[in-house]
Amino acid sequence: MNDRRIRRIVIVGGGTAGWMTAAALGQALQGNCRIDLVESDRIGTIGVGEATIPPIKLFNQRLGIDENAFITATQGTFKLGIEFVDWSRKGHRYFHPFGQFGAEFDKVPLHHYWLRERTRGDATPLEDYALAWMAARAGKFMTPSKDPRQVLSTFDYAYQFDAGLYATFLRRYAEQHNVRRTEGRVTSVQLREDGFIDRVALESGEHLEGDLFIDCSGFRGLLIEGALHAGYEDWRHWLPCDRAVAVQCEHGEAFVPYTRSTAHAAGWQWRIPLQHRVGNGHVYCSHYISDDEAAATLMDHLEAPALTEPRLLRFTTGRRRRFWHRNCVAIGLSAGFLEPLESTSIHLIQSAVTRLLALFPDRDFDPYTTAEFNRLTGQEYERVRDFLILHYCANQREEPMWRHVARMDIPQPLAYKLAHFRGHGRLVAENHELFQNPNWLAVLVGQEVWPERYDPLVDLRSEVDAPQILAGLRDVIGQAVDAMPTQREYIDRYCRA
Ligand code: FAD
Repeated sequence: MNDRRIRRIVIVGGGTAGWMTAAALGQALQGNCRIDLVESDRIGTIGVGEATIPPIKLFNQRLGIDENAFITATQGTFKLGIEFVDWSRKGHRYFHPFGQFGAEFDKVPLHHYWLRERTRGDATPLEDYALAWMAARAGKFMTPSKDPRQVLSTFDYAYQFDAGLYATFLRRYAEQHNVRRTEGRVTSVQLREDGFIDRVALESGEHLEGDLFIDCSGFRGLLIEGALHAGYEDWRHWLPCDRAVAVQCEHGEAFVPYTRSTAHAAGWQWRIPLQHRVGNGHVYCSHYISDDEAAATLMDHLEAPALTEPRLLRFTTGRRRRFWHRNCVAIGLSAGFLEPLESTSIHLIQSAVTRLLALFPDRDFDPYTTAEFNRLTGQEYERVRDFLILHYCANQREEPMWRHVARMDIPQPLAYKLAHFRGHGRLVAENHELFQNPNWLAVLVGQEVWPERYDPLVDLRSEVDAPQILAGLRDVIGQAVDAMPTQREYIDRYCRA
């Protein structure tokens, strides 16, 4: 039988996507396949992706990366969720915590009992049942317990880190796992007669040939779009923000274990505290505000002196029509971009690499393999998109951009989820969705989408003393948080080299 194995892989781009892909493929293929990565220092990287979501822990663990060494190397901090300020309306704030709300104590999910107590006058915010938020608010952090009977097992966490340092960290790892790096600019892409990519040519005159090409070249999509014209689905009618201005500043307050997102008139501002500095950015819709005004808004809202000049980034929210086309797979910004509201870009890189390994091709490139990769990846982007749209469409703000997004047509799967919640407070995320019921609950309640009724089963379970159980849960959570170290104590104790 002919040997149809992939023998050479070329990765174009050395941003977060390029080096995450290189590290994962290098480890998985163990030197049995030549892997080249080409990147251009002159072109540089986006490098502002600094906040993540919990599955990133799995990516690092699979590579065998020690968490404390990683935190040290990337000036990282821990992230227990996101605080949303002024999103539903000015003066309102809520928290999207990682993990559950309380602990399940009955067949009916906790939030239905909470909804009933609310109708009876109990004003306790839902967040008070989230250990992640109670810890975040107190600046506390420790890793969760693995014992499901402990309340300390009910939360989860992710990281905030310097994306440039993470890429450097992964580069070292990848180079130890047989990845060869070439510095240089790709100037052309040469196709075979059948339209597959044959090689990329560098400015130096060098060529890199491959069986499989991974496009990690960022927004420009040098291979997937530039050479293969895979197409792009524009989602700006749902996610209208199309620019960001980013700046780093000094610490104005202790580094807290969470990201903050503050809504402004035509967008929103992120605050991501690392150990050595704070990352800030204003994401906005250029139809409603000029670049100068957007930069001024950002600078006016910095808590401490800036460390860098403001940097402008332009983007089109949406996704590549085909993420995998012929012998080219787009990973990272070349595959699409959903704005950074829930810190999902690095996760989408991680899941694309994992999916590529699960559907690894041979040189025949079975069209079913490609189709399955595209189907699953498309579904994932659409689900994340809908979760992001929820933050926009449910708002009571008065500025033109906010009125526009409150009135726009929304995708049908999101309308379905909203209708379920508005009716009986029911949450209908499927098991394999990235954002699960507790995530939807946090944002639905946070954006003040109130159900008309709670689950009718609640009133049929008269033996459940919900007020007492809920009060008991709050006490247990409070005691657990009191006993936790502050994030700084935790990092000083475990993450100093
Ligand atoms: P890039 O960083 O653009 O890297 C592209 C690479 O391709 C570079 O190495 C470049 O040199 C190389 N290249 C390009 N053209 C050529 C050529 N001709 N020859 C050779 N090399 C070439 N993600 C998160 O998870 N969390 C966040 O909080 C977050 N915030 C973000 C905020 C904003 C405003 C933006 C725009 C993105 C954010 N992201 C975030 C996304 C995150 O920054 C990216 O997903 C991540 O950095 C991956 O980028 P990339 O590697 O695909 O592209």
